[in-house]
Amino acid sequence: MKKLMFILVTLILASAGDPEAQAQRISRDLNVDLLINQAGYVPDAGKIIVTKGTVTRPFDVIDLVTRKVVFSGAFKPDPGDFGSFSTGDFSPLTKEGHYYIKCDTLRSYPFEISGSAYRETIGKIIGYFSLQRCGSSTTGYMSPCHLDDGIRMDNGKHQDVSGGWHDASDLRKWVGATIYGMIGLSKTYELLDEKNPAREKILDELLWGNQYFLKMQEPQGYIMNYVGGDVKKHSDSNRWTDNIPGKEGGELSFVKPSAGKSTADMLLFDSNDDRVIRTDPVDLVAQYNFVTSEAIMARIIKTDNPDYAGNCLEAAIRCFDWCVKTAKEVNTGVIGASIQAANELFKTTKQDSYANFAVEQAALLNDLQAINQSVEGVSGFFYTSPSNKDPFKDIWQGCLEFISLCDLIETLPFHKDAPGWKNIVSNYSKLYLKNMTRKNCFGIVPYGLFTGKDPGGNRKAGNYWYRYFMQPELSWWVGINSNLASAGVGLIKASKVLKDPELKALAQRQLDWITGVNPFNSSTIVSVGYNHPVHFGGSTFLPSTPVLPGAVLNGLGGDSADQPVIGNGNWQISEYWTPMVAYTLWLIAEISETE
Ligand SMILES: [Zn+2]
Repeated sequence: MKKLMFILVTLILASAGDPEAQAQRISRDLNVDLLINQAGYVPDAGKIIVTKGTVTRPFDVIDLVTRKVVFSGAFKPDPGDFGSFSTGDFSPLTKEGHYYIKCDTLRSYPFEISGSAYRETIGKIIGYFSLQRCGSSTTGYMSPCHLDDGIRMDNGKHQDVSGGWHDASDLRKWVGATIYGMIGLSKTYELLDEKNPAREKILDELLWGNQYFLKMQEPQGYIMNYVGGDVKKHSDSNRWTDNIPGKEGGELSFVKPSAGKSTADMLLFDSNDDRVIRTDPVDLVAQYNFVTSEAIMARIIKTDNPDYAGNCLEAAIRCFDWCVKTAKEVNTGVIGASIQAANELFKTTKQDSYANFAVEQAALLNDLQAINQSVEGVSGFFYTSPSNKDPFKDIWQGCLEFISLCDLIETLPFHKDAPGWKNIVSNYSKLYLKNMTRKNCFGIVPYGLFTGKDPGGNRKAGNYWYRYFMQPELSWWVGINSNLASAGVGLIKASKVLKDPELKALAQRQLDWITGVNPFNSSTIVSVGYNHPVHFGGSTFLPSTPVLPGAVLNGLGGDSADQPVIGNGNWQISEYWTPMVAYTLWLIAEISETE
C-alpha cells in the first residue's frame, strides 16, 4: 500500500513539473462544431455549413480516403435571430465521395455526396412504418396487436377496423394524422425511379396501411374519426388488448345510454379491453387527404391489381362527393387539401369536373393571399379564411396549400389561370418564405405570423409578429419538422415552376436542420446521424413504444423567447408523429428525384 502511494505521489509530482506531460492528455477531444447534413447531400444540392460564433477563417473539405483537400472556402459571420453564427458555402463541390470539413481545430462529422446519398435514409423511414404496423403483420414491433379493434361508439357493435399504423409513439390510430403516411409514402413511390427496389417495399406498406383507411369509410362516403384515441378523456383507449373481439373474449354487452349519458360513457364503462371507434366524421382536411391517398393508390396499383385499384377509386370518389355535398368550411387548410384531392382525382380519371373543382378552389386561395403590403412589411402568406385575417399556420398539414397549387400548375400548365397561380406561388415562396429565411443563419422558415400581442421572442416582420417554434405555453405544441419539411417540398416544386434554383437550395436547408444543421448538432431521424433528442419513454401503457429506427421525431422545439430547445425526452419534441415522418420522407424523395 505504501509503495503504491509512493508511485502515485511520484507520478503526480512528475506530471506537475513537466509542462509537456501536463499538456498530454490520455484522449484527445475533438470539437465537432462544424454543422453539416448528417444524412449527406446529392451532388447538385445547395451545401451550407454552419458554425457557432463569429468566424472568418478558411475551411477545407477533405476526402476521407485520399485525405486530400478537394475544396476550400471561408466562413463569413451570419448573425440573426438565433444569435452569433457563421456560414460557409461548399455548393460548388459536386464530386461524389466521402468527406469531412476542417477549420483550424474544428471539424464536422464525415458525410457523403452522392446521387444515392439518401437511399439508406429512405429505406429506414419506410422500415419505420413497417415497425408501427397494427394488426397481425410480420413486421410490427408488437405484432399481433389490436385484432379486436373496435366497438362502434354509436351502436356498441363490433366492426373490424384492424390494420393500419400506430401513431404518435403510442397505440392510437388517428385517421387525421396517420393518413399523411399514405400521402408521404405514395408521393415517394411516384418520385422514385421505376427500378428502385424501395418501390416494392413502399407498395407493400401502402397496402398494409390502406386496409385500415378503407375499413374506416362509412357507406355515406365519409371516413370515421379514429380508433384507440381519446373517446371521453385523455388516453382512455390507448392500451394493448387481448386481440379477441368482445369483453374478455366473451360477448359484447352494450348498455343503451341513459338520460344525460352519452353512448361513449356507457361503452367505456363496459369495455376495458376492446377499443372504441369514434364513428363521427374526421375533419374535412383528413377527408380530402383520404381522397388524395386513394386516387394515387388507384393509379399506382392499376396494372398489378385492377380490381383493388377500382375499389380505391370508388372509395375516393364516394368520399369526394360527400365532402363537396357537406363542406361548409372555406379556409386555407381545407382549400389546400381539396385542391390536392381534386388534382389527384383528375390525374387518375382525366375527368374535367375534378380539374374544374381544383381551379375554383385555386381562385379562392388567390383571394386569401396577403399582398400589397408596405415594402418593409411581410407579404405573400395566406390568411386563415375570408372572415379570419389571422395568418394561416397549421403544424398538421404544414404548407399543403402551397404544395397543391404547384401540383396544379404542373397538371394544367396551359390553363388560362396558370399565370395567376404562378404569381401566387412566386409571392408565397419569395415574398414570404425566402424573405423570412434570411432572418436566421440556418435558413429555416418560420412556423408562422401572429397578430395581437407578442407571442414571445419579440420577433417582428412588418405589422406582424413571427415565431419559428410553437409557443411552449400552449396546452398542445410540438416540434417543427412537418412545418420545415412541407415548406421544403413546396420550395422544390416552386423552384421547378418558377425555374429558380435558389428556392431548391432553400428546400435543402429545411432538411439540413432536421438532420443536423441546428444548434445541437442533432439529427432528429432515429438511426440517421447523431445526437438525437432523448427518447420519449411513453406514459400510459406497457411496453411503451421502443426506439424505432427510421422514426422522424416531432423535432426541436422552442422556449418562450423562441430560441431552440432539444428537450429531455418530452413528447412534444421526441414523439414519433406521422405528419413529421411523412413530410420528411416526401422532402427527401423530392430532393433525391431532382438528381
Ligand atoms: Zn396495434
